[in-house]
Amino acid sequence: MNKACILCHGQLKPTVTTYTQEYEGGFILIENVPAWECEQCGETYFDPDVVERLQNLIWSGAEPVRMIQTPVYDLNRT
Ligand SMILES: [Zn+2]
Repeated sequence: MNKACILCHGQLKPTVTTYTQEYEGGFILIENVPAWECEQCGETYFDPDVVERLQNLIWSGAEPVRMIQTPVYDLNRT
């Protein structure tokens, strides 16, 4: 499968990444998401069916495999 980066037209290689989504004032992380990463600029792309599976999972209200604590910083307060 040959795909090209929209930004720099670099070659995309298959990878596995962690997807981040803002949700109800917090964040949801989904690990082990198949994606395409540009070899030149590092931009990450998802196939449409993968995006659909991510959205379905988020909206399903399924029990997460684990919870993490996330530190929050404010650049205006440093
Ligand atoms: Zn690129």
